[in-house]
Amino acid sequence: MKKAVNFHGHSCPGVAIGVLVSKYILEHDNEFSTDEELVAVVENDNCSVDAIQAILGTTFGKGNLIYLDYGKNNYTFYNRTNKKAVKISLKSRSFGDLPSSKEERTEGLLRTKPEDIFRIQKVKFNPPEKAEIYESIICDECGDPTMITRIKEDKGKNLCIPCYKRIKKSSSI
Ligand SMILES: [Zn+2]
Ligand SMILES: [Zn+2]
Repeated sequence: MKKAVNFHGHSCPGVAIGVLVSKYILEHDNEFSTDEELVAVVENDNCSVDAIQAILGTTFGKGNLIYLDYGKNNYTFYNRTNKKAVKISLKSRSFGDLPSSKEERTEGLLRTKPEDIFRIQKVKFNPPEKAEIYESIICDECGDPTMITRIKEDKGKNLCIPCYKRIKKSSSI
């Protein structure tokens, strides 16, 4: 928890949830080590993900943290070496018995076992592709070197996403 709070900046129920998710993975380190072969797929970008980055070392920079914008407290982990996969999902009633103040709720969560608040399922090994690195070309509007797969073409110009949006917006007014 300390490590997670240091990284995240404050203590909160979200961090406690991330700590419990991480705890499950660490307790199963024969299946899921915390090396680069571990891939985390998270379905939210809330406080819990900071705990997972701090404790398990799955980060955006290393490419082993993948964010899906689904707004769910679901966390899937893949081990690229032994092809194990597990999905950890917050149960819908896990907050039912917990006190309502933030501090008490954080404390209460930390006293529970991962198995108490999560549904834990073995799933098929089906990790997202590793992010490839593409060459960059220059945006004709702002001059920023931009990964070629993110360039949009408009009237013969190569545009980065923000420039493309700005031009589309101003031309539609
Ligand atoms: Zn927080
Ligand atoms: Zn641009």
